[in-house]
Amino acid sequence: GPGLKVISTLSVGFDHLALDEIKKRGIRVGYTPDVLTDATAELSVALLLSACRRLPEAAEQVKSGGWTTWKPLWMCGYGLSDSTVGIIGLGRIGQAVARRLKPFGVRKFLYTGTGPKPESAAEFGAEFVPLVRLAEESDFVVVTCALTPATQGMCNKDFFARMKKSSVFVNTSRGAVVNQEDLYDALANGQIAAAGLDVTTPEPLPTDHPLLSLKNCVILPHIGSATYATRSTMAVLAAKNLLAGLRGEPMPHELKL
Ligand code: NDP
Repeated sequence: GPGLKVISTLSVGFDHLALDEIKKRGIRVGYTPDVLTDATAELSVALLLSACRRLPEAAEQVKSGGWTTWKPLWMCGYGLSDSTVGIIGLGRIGQAVARRLKPFGVRKFLYTGTGPKPESAAEFGAEFVPLVRLAEESDFVVVTCALTPATQGMCNKDFFARMKKSSVFVNTSRGAVVNQEDLYDALANGQIAAAGLDVTTPEPLPTDHPLLSLKNCVILPHIGSATYATRSTMAVLAAKNLLAGLRGEPMPHELKL
């Protein structure tokens, strides 16, 4: 409405806001960075492990009677030991993911973004590489960047074609960073091994969406920050942002427009 003065979003992402209009009208925006970093990184790791070790598929086999005699290659997947992990967007969540994955025995971290970030990368010995090299060399690709005009559709046909057949793709950023038709083709044609998505286009994903027919695709309903403690902290921060905005005071976390 015309009287809108303050927006307080219960998220760190702000791709859903019409920032040009908001800036033009002098509307202040509060958001919730940092407080959801750990929960979202944890979920990213859970999703990665679910996809690479085929957990939902394997659990289903127990229920359906597909679990019979022991077979050497049955339900095999790919592990993190000695692997190369590529992080698209080594921001707060990207770094928290790398920190959690490192103890699994990852050999090498690659990352891409708007430019090298030696201070953030030092902890992981992570190497800044172009997107193409990240696709070609990573055994696991984890997308943790913001959705912007530059990242929209970034993981497309060309990207998946460069990935190894044994590689696993994980997206916990925003659905629109991925071209879903291209991802479907890559998964269905065995161009990549598996994918884990916490975010899709649209949300909710229609229950008859082709991606849901694939065994090698694990899809979660955008639950990155969904722990009781994190959602509670996010709510308090969002309320503080809103009250400060309405009072004309500095917000605990205000988006710099
Ligand atoms: P940050 O701002 O800390 O990190 C964003 C990262 O995106 C930065 O590292 C930035 O790189 C990177 N980036 C920007 N442009 C590009 C580009 N062109 N190519 C590659 N990387 C790019 O944000 P957070 O880590 O806190 O959050 C990241 C995103 O995660 C949010 O924007 C949100 O969409 C999503 N999210 C999802 C949740 C879920 O429930 N699944 C929960 C919380 C967040 P650089 O540093 O080089 O600029």
